[in-house]
Amino acid sequence: MYNEPHVPFKKTDETSIPGWFELVVGPMFSGKTEELIRRLKRANIAGQSTLIFKPKMDTRYHKSHVVSHDENFLVSKAIENSKEILEMVKDENVIGIDEVQFLDDAVIEVIRELTKAGKRVVAAGLDKDYAGNPFRPVPDLMAEADYVTKLHAICVRCGAPASFSYRKSPVKEKLLLGEKEDYEARCRSCFFE
Ligand code: ADP
Ligand code: ZN
Repeated sequence: MYNEPHVPFKKTDETSIPGWFELVVGPMFSGKTEELIRRLKRANIAGQSTLIFKPKMDTRYHKSHVVSHDENFLVSKAIENSKEILEMVKDENVIGIDEVQFLDDAVIEVIRELTKAGKRVVAAGLDKDYAGNPFRPVPDLMAEADYVTKLHAICVRCGAPASFSYRKSPVKEKLLLGEKEDYEARCRSCFFE
């Protein structure tokens, strides 16, 4: 199990609490959504208020819930662009963003604003598309993040740690949403085979 990064709480004065940004990346089935849900649930238990967003186009399971492949879920707000996050966030302490690879580049600035306001931001998303190329804006977010956790699935061909999402059907559309039938987790050598 992965633990939250250790963040020293440095209160510079009574009103300013530093925010920070955690990013969880990896291929499909690596447990990114599970990890996002786990971190937000723990924050909730400790009395922190939370709010989760996900892009509207990710409606694989549910319009208003973040749902993992394991069917664990949390209620979320569906957004079309990242600026909506700033309009919806009020006094919540922890902000979650799932499937962040489907948001626009402005999400970097949005996350910066949230951390400036003292929020803890936890985002999760694919670092690579099905062709094995970087999935923007996630590479930029990896540079921006204070903490990056890279998860692995298990290669369905050989059992090695998998960091690639292999598309089994031939459609050449990067944003194509799919499920288990369309993709499988593969390690580097099985992916490039
Ligand atoms: P992600 O958000 O990274 O796509 P999820 O958190 O939605 O992943 O789902 C993770 C779950 O997917 C695992 O706990 C497991 O039940 C399931 N799963 C399906 N295929 C695999 C695989 N090849 N390797 C690991 N887990 C898998
Ligand atoms: Zn393999």
